[in-house]
Amino acid sequence: MDDGRKVLVVVMDGLGDRAVKSLGQRTPLQCANKPNLDWFAANGTSGIMDVISPGVRPGSDTSHLALLGYDPFEVYTGRGPFEAAGVGLVGKPGDVAFRCNFATVDSDMNVIDRRAGRIKTPDTTMLASAINGMQLGNITATVREATEHRAVLILEGPDLSPYVSDVDPHALSSIQSSEPLRPEALVTAQAVNEFVHKAHEILRDHPVNRRRIEEGLVPANALLPRGAGVFPNIQSFQERYGISASGVAGVSLIRGICRVCGLEVIEETGCTGGTDTDMDAKACAALRELERKDFVLMNVKATDVNSHDGDPRSKIESIERLDSMAKIIKDSIPEGAIVVLTADHCTPVELGDHSGDPVPLTIYSDDSIKDDVTSFDEISCARGALGRIRGVNLMPILLDKANRSEKFGA
Ligand code: ZN
Ligand code: ZN
Repeated sequence: MDDGRKVLVVVMDGLGDRAVKSLGQRTPLQCANKPNLDWFAANGTSGIMDVISPGVRPGSDTSHLALLGYDPFEVYTGRGPFEAAGVGLVGKPGDVAFRCNFATVDSDMNVIDRRAGRIKTPDTTMLASAINGMQLGNITATVREATEHRAVLILEGPDLSPYVSDVDPHALSSIQSSEPLRPEALVTAQAVNEFVHKAHEILRDHPVNRRRIEEGLVPANALLPRGAGVFPNIQSFQERYGISASGVAGVSLIRGICRVCGLEVIEETGCTGGTDTDMDAKACAALRELERKDFVLMNVKATDVNSHDGDPRSKIESIERLDSMAKIIKDSIPEGAIVVLTADHCTPVELGDHSGDPVPLTIYSDDSIKDDVTSFDEISCARGALGRIRGVNLMPILLDKANRSEKFGA
């Protein structure tokens, strides 16, 4: 079968919501003016989706793994590897990665500034390179600066385990010793502690820090690892599904998820003008990618940010900007392509955090069986013909609709 169709998945981060009092018990999606999102619902097939499992509150990392068809309960042990991949460091299966902060500690290793005066590059770049490649017995430490005061650490060597506690005290108190949370993690915990102390010795006297002190700035004399996770041993997207794929995302963590799953990550450019160049540019980049790839996932973050801020009015405005973005997509859908509109989780504005509620879902193609749904929102989609599915069900459904699935049986 060689008439495979292209697939574009539009993930609107934290889009779904609950009844909001200040909106007369309606959701931001129900209140927004969104004729283009509604056009997809009216011409496609809709449903709702438990991205991880009913009632489970997803992180953006575990939810995107599920949307790409990987079981997060199997492949996810912590955020570290995906943050590392987000800045371009993709380790081998078995390597253990951490998120880190550059911090300021006193001579007794008490944390006095968890962000080292909000240090940033080029200082962090020079400090990271001073401790990059450190040997801890037969374990090698790779360090790379990330945004602002952040960095990532990858440990590479035999018998590593992600089941170690955080060094970062998450408060202004003494640096924590990394402890094994399982017996097999003893070697890893020891390596982390050795790394933290050796890094402190190197950073303490580093010229960048001497200069910072002369300038009246706090030194970044410690690195605090947290969020350990192991790089999973997973088939790349291409091997697993036999299709080429790209990810378009502004958020580093989502780029990291895409990279670990073997998608090519696109740093979007182009598409000038319009009221929101950011979203419009993203849609243009995704459509451009769709010309050369079989599958494109794009993530748009704004609605999640509005929700964490607890601001229903700006969430409605973001949805209306998403609607203009949807018009760009609607006007240039490649022949026969499948377009999916959904979210990675709900982020109810009154809660200000992610919830385990199901998200709305519409799958559009020019041969969709139309159901009675004419509005893209939480309530209308729940009446759609797709019913209620789980996140890991999405990829098999899309592969089938794209005429790319294997027949089961004769
Ligand atoms: Zn998210
Ligand atoms: Zn969020």
